[in-house]
Amino acid sequence: MEPVKKGDVLVCSECGVELEVTKNCDCSNCEIVCCGSVMEVKVKSSGGSCC
Ligand SMILES: [Zn+2]
Repeated sequence: MEPVKKGDVLVCSECGVELEVTKNCDCSNCEIVCCGSVMEVKVKSSGGSCC
């Protein structure tokens, strides 16, 4: 999994919880786990949004 960036929203496919990243991850293999499975990025911060 690619490192998460600030502004990314992670969602758990098991319970539906959502997390917003407030600081970039520097790991080469970023795995944030919830409910025993790796969370998926819901919204990519493509830089199109303001500020
Ligand atoms: Zn979960």
